[in-house]
Amino acid sequence: MVLKVTDVVYREPVPETYGNIYFVVRDDGVIVIDTGIPGKEGVILDDVRSLGFSPSQVKAIILTHYHMDHSGSAEALRSATGAKIYVHRDDAPYLQGLVKPEFPKEAPREAVEAYRWFRPLRPDVTLSDGDEVLGLKVIHAPGHTPGSIALYDRRHLFAGDNLNLREGRVQGPPPQFTTDMGRARESVRRLLSLDFDVLLPGHGEPVVGGASARARQDLKGFL
Ligand SMILES: [Zn+2]
Repeated sequence: MVLKVTDVVYREPVPETYGNIYFVVRDDGVIVIDTGIPGKEGVILDDVRSLGFSPSQVKAIILTHYHMDHSGSAEALRSATGAKIYVHRDDAPYLQGLVKPEFPKEAPREAVEAYRWFRPLRPDVTLSDGDEVLGLKVIHAPGHTPGSIALYDRRHLFAGDNLNLREGRVQGPPPQFTTDMGRARESVRRLLSLDFDVLLPGHGEPVVGGASARARQDLKGFL
């Protein structure tokens, strides 16, 4: 069931991964940010309808990175809506299956093996740092994956997996699934230099109200 976060942002929690599918509501349609694991397209379409839109009013499907728990239902959702899929250009080769997923040695084996079910897909639009998609500014935040992004509208920060809520605290990306922790730390630093009231993490509960101050506080040790 879709949950209200703010007047313009809603989310569908994905219980299997504690992940989030986000909806940004505009006057004439809705933007979907991340699509969860495979098989979530039905839930997403139900949510779109319950927000008052038809499937053809999905204006964009933006992926914060290529990982399967975020891109899993993107192809099915594109088929059902006709919306374009956006991803950063540095993650596009992974999404298309041209480059194999890269995980550190400590990644849990079953999570890595799950990628045998990964169905490559072709993005419609590749993004670069500073691009704007329907009022959301693209911030390249590499490290978790080479083409990880955050999306920012001065009030909301959609952080992808660079910032997550775990054990009631804002935390950086999970090291066991992060390709380059050094770059990820730099990216987190860059995200924390922004002011935002609402944090929409890749996994875990959003922070509503004073989110950038809270994130800086929680992540003091990490930086
Ligand atoms: Zn991820």
